[in-house]
Amino acid sequence: MSTARTTDPVALLQDLIRIDTTNPPGDEGACAAYVTDLLEGDEEIDVRVIGVTPERANVVARFKGRGEAPPLLLHAHSDVVPVTGQDWLHPPFEGRLVDGEVWGRGAIDMKGGLSMMLSSLLRMRERGERPAGDVLLAVVADEENGSGVGARHLVQEHAELFDGVRYAIGEEAGADIELDGVRFHPIVVAEKRACWLRASLRGPGGHGSRMMPSDTPMRRLAGLLTALTGTRLPRHKGAAADRMLAELARRLPGPTGEAVRRLREDDTLDRPPAGLPGEQARYLDSVLRHTVNPTVVRTPDKINMMPESLSVDMDGRILPGDFTVADFESEVRALAGPDIGFELLLEGSRVDPARIREPEFGGFYDSMVEILEKADPGAVPLPMITPASTDNRLFAQLGIRCYGWLPMRLPAGSPHRGMLHQANERIPVDALRFGTDCLSTLLRDHR
Ligand SMILES: [Zn+2]
Repeated sequence: MSTARTTDPVALLQDLIRIDTTNPPGDEGACAAYVTDLLEGDEEIDVRVIGVTPERANVVARFKGRGEAPPLLLHAHSDVVPVTGQDWLHPPFEGRLVDGEVWGRGAIDMKGGLSMMLSSLLRMRERGERPAGDVLLAVVADEENGSGVGARHLVQEHAELFDGVRYAIGEEAGADIELDGVRFHPIVVAEKRACWLRASLRGPGGHGSRMMPSDTPMRRLAGLLTALTGTRLPRHKGAAADRMLAELARRLPGPTGEAVRRLREDDTLDRPPAGLPGEQARYLDSVLRHTVNPTVVRTPDKINMMPESLSVDMDGRILPGDFTVADFESEVRALAGPDIGFELLLEGSRVDPARIREPEFGGFYDSMVEILEKADPGAVPLPMITPASTDNRLFAQLGIRCYGWLPMRLPAGSPHRGMLHQANERIPVDALRFGTDCLSTLLRDHR
């Protein structure tokens, strides 16, 4: 690789983008080799390449610390989602630098974060510094397709590599959010878990040339979709969302802050304040409750025949805390009607829900807050819940407290948050440097 052994996050990101790790099939082996090449040949770094196959390799590197603190884990996935059918202004796998931004698939999700981690570690090594405790860097495959040969494999088959780790940093968080003139830097403290359901709808079928009775599966499908789209499951109160609302209410000026305060205090208020922009309002809405979205409808695919059965797959997401699948199903049933049978397709991506705990707001959280406040005076660190799933849920299975923290400071009004998995994914050079500096401070000061 041309710029191997650089410590610059921009050059690192350009190199990483040029290694096509579209998943499927993944092919993260080349990326693992690149990372290994950067880190190898140093007595203070123990580098291991672990994979179910060489093509799907993971890297776990351990930077030796002074033995004065427990090991800290940084983890990043090396795979990216496909670009199929997307219309890009610049090629997605060339890592072009255009007007102060690095373009390409993975720039945000999450080769940008990986390059911040690599750069902060390489710079520490360059300065001859040692962190208080060992720092582990796990570069994992397959996050975008279930993590089976990536983080899940490491956690299930190589758990001893992570012995003693108390805290971990991974995706997502990232880009700051601008609301009412206040810039917030998210720190993800909790995740929802997936609960995917299948509803089967049955009823009379028949030849498509005839008038149909009123209880055909298609008619029932219309009812189900109407009941579950554009509607809300009941609101729940949890520690992470409450702390987030408290912080928003305290920091947002004027009527929006007042409206968030009312939302926090009055459990009967069901929806986010009208003053919030659509994207932020939908986000808030999604972390106050479980959600369910019908996403796949399966029919026999025959135009002249009314099917006797069809199925609807639904992407459900359960809040962190003590909620069970049965709790969730009964809420969905209350909207969809009592006579629909559900089959559980997947829960929490096969992890132990008891390990997906409410967040910890202690010393480690506070140190991230302090770093952000110094790095961007006037901006506000904000604890957040992510409605999506990341590899944090898997490393949490080892009893590690996981946070999503890849800080980026972006120009006001920047569209970067919406670029995940979309065309024209890119990241400003300044945002990369900002995140690298924050992580460097964490590695230096972590006790
Ligand atoms: Zn990601």
